[in-house]
Amino acid sequence: MSDPSKLAAVVKARCPQCHDGRIFTHKWWNLLKFSEMHEHCPSCGLRYEVEPGFFFGAMYISYAFTVGIMIVGGIIIYNFFGDPSAEGYIIPITLVSLLMVPFNFRMARVIFIHLFSMIKYKSDAAGTASTK
Ligand SMILES: [Zn+2]
Repeated sequence: MSDPSKLAAVVKARCPQCHDGRIFTHKWWNLLKFSEMHEHCPSCGLRYEVEPGFFFGAMYISYAFTVGIMIVGGIIIYNFFGDPSAEGYIIPITLVSLLMVPFNFRMARVIFIHLFSMIKYKSDAAGTASTK
């Protein structure tokens, strides 16, 4: 990626406008609340859901992640575990896919808002939130 601070903001799940405020209210390992998002950026006040149902499209990214995990998992099992029976693929790949759900869900939304929301990074936006 050409903008290293954008990549860092994606990895750390920060706001696309200020690269400072957190998008999610809890850490990803909080299995009950990993999906809860701030409505507005705590740092610059940007509304994350730029239009109703905006994050619906993130499902396609999440789906692509899951397919990617299945393909990579299948290749690893085939090459390093001696091509087992069907269960030898289905059980570990299903388990890994389930373990990855919180990560998938969040990364899909972060990537989606950074790539498809048309929100531009403003270096002076951080800390300008009027609420709170
Ligand atoms: Zn922000």
